[in-house]
Amino acid sequence: MSPKPRSGLGVFAGYHSAQVAATVRLNTNESPFPPPPYLLRRWSEAVQDLSLNRYPDRQATPLREAIARFHQVEPDTVFVANGSNEVIQSILLAYGGSDGKAASFEPTYAMYETISRVTATPYLAIERGPDLRIDAERLEADLAAAGASLVFVCSPNNPTGVAEEMEVFSSLASDPERLVVVDEAYGQFSPQSMVPEVAAHSNLVVVRTFSKVWSLAGMRIGYAIAPPEVAEVLWKVALPYHVDSSKQLLALYSLDYVSEMEERVAQLVLERERMAEQLALLPLDQWPSAANFILFRPRHADAGRLWAQLVERGILVRDWSKWPRLENCLRVTVGTEWENRAFLGALEELLA
Ligand SMILES: *Cc1c(COP(=O)(O)O)cnc(C)c1O
Repeated sequence: MSPKPRSGLGVFAGYHSAQVAATVRLNTNESPFPPPPYLLRRWSEAVQDLSLNRYPDRQATPLREAIARFHQVEPDTVFVANGSNEVIQSILLAYGGSDGKAASFEPTYAMYETISRVTATPYLAIERGPDLRIDAERLEADLAAAGASLVFVCSPNNPTGVAEEMEVFSSLASDPERLVVVDEAYGQFSPQSMVPEVAAHSNLVVVRTFSKVWSLAGMRIGYAIAPPEVAEVLWKVALPYHVDSSKQLLALYSLDYVSEMEERVAQLVLERERMAEQLALLPLDQWPSAANFILFRPRHADAGRLWAQLVERGILVRDWSKWPRLENCLRVTVGTEWENRAFLGALEELLA
């Protein structure tokens, strides 16, 4: 006998991406490039002067101001947390719960459903249309049927890589009582962003992270750009002093190296295009990606078996083949030129 957790958590597995030993790790969409060494030097020196006996700046003011400058928005529209997953959790704590109803377009990032469950928020999966895109024509009817007060849209979408058409967002945001959350974890890889649209809406939130393009997945830093009224509510549900001083400082300093970040992104976009060209020569179907990964489906091979054969060769990709709507699909993260070549070489051999 042991104490019983809250109902609704019982059947649920939590997040898992296989963590197995591999030389070429192309499974979790991290950047293959570390942050600049001079950034880390500058930060580690400054950490020695932090007053760690004191609590951090509760509202992360200098960091919020720097993020606001980067996006050309006002600081009172910025909410900061420990990774964008915590931002999503804060949004669900504030706008979900048993009063709310969350929805998203499947297949998409699994954490919208997972965190909805954890926060006791009813969640409804809306089916994507053909090509796994959001079906703009069915959008209003689908949302009305779902009765969603809160809708998550990941664009570019994980795990498909597809960026949504801009009309989809204006349509989503047309009901002022519905909170629309656009997850742009991969936004920097895509030419389009909804950040400039936030100021024109009272119900639009864009979520971003330092985990992918800023090469800081290990540090857990994410943020939202939201209408000031919404940002204020998010600060209310955050634990006091939730973002520690050293993390605030590293994120703040990172924003001094925008051109380095843009160079890393440009290099990965180039690699992505190269990888897509090579994949097009193989017996598989792939989705057009605006992110740092590509979803593909071998035409004749069994994807689960292919995944295991790649692991045997020291190459780890993400196996989506057992997920509804993603039957027989694998997803590969764009890595360094060498890693991508190793992956493509092995894949070509296995599919031959
Ligand atoms: C990787 C990813 C995140 C990042 O989460 P963090 O908590 O910031 O590391 C958020 N959303 C999507 C869709 C992702 O793929």
